[in-house]
Amino acid sequence: MTYVFPPEPTASLPIEGSDHAFPVRRIFCVGRNYAAHAAEMGGEVDREAPWYFTKSPYSLARSGQKLPYPQGTQNYHHEVEFVVALGEGARVFGYACGLDMTRRDLQQVGKDNRRPWDLGKDVENSAVIGAITPADAFGAVTDQAISLSVSGEERQAGLLSDMVWSVPEIIAHLSGFYTLGAGDIIMTGTPSGVGPVVVGDRLTGTVNGLVPVALTLTAD
Ligand code: MN
Repeated sequence: MTYVFPPEPTASLPIEGSDHAFPVRRIFCVGRNYAAHAAEMGGEVDREAPWYFTKSPYSLARSGQKLPYPQGTQNYHHEVEFVVALGEGARVFGYACGLDMTRRDLQQVGKDNRRPWDLGKDVENSAVIGAITPADAFGAVTDQAISLSVSGEERQAGLLSDMVWSVPEIIAHLSGFYTLGAGDIIMTGTPSGVGPVVVGDRLTGTVNGLVPVALTLTAD
């Protein structure tokens, strides 16, 4: 069978120390997984269960690019996140630094009107993710520092031990709703300090032990 037009290439991410790429299937994102961020958003952590939103694989962007400030927003925000990449059998393949870039104004419209968050969250080029470090090279997820700077100034800082829901808890819970498997990615939430970025800003997100993620915003 032939297609009426060429299908999009599979979205993928580089793997540190490997010539192979990691093909991305789905992108799940955890909401309010750090208490201090939940508070700054005027909410509370939901201690009953984690909850999620998704981004299309077409929102994926590789780290280190200059990308346009998106249309349709006056308040584009940074959220630095610890990213989990799943391999065969939904076992953890590796980890990466990511940016869950967000049209905060449109997310707020969604909240105010009890509408979905897609326009705020499923933004083209908004899932910026760095090279994946294999799980055994990273070691245990403990109290590694996570941070984000904008043009050299630190804006977000936290510890992975601040996460309300741990990586195994998130995978176990999310597995009750989706058949997780190879290529699925989970962005595990952001520490406090989120805020707006403008054209010309250089964003760098770090987690100790991982390759940093970088993004520069351009006018178009
Ligand atoms: Mn987020």
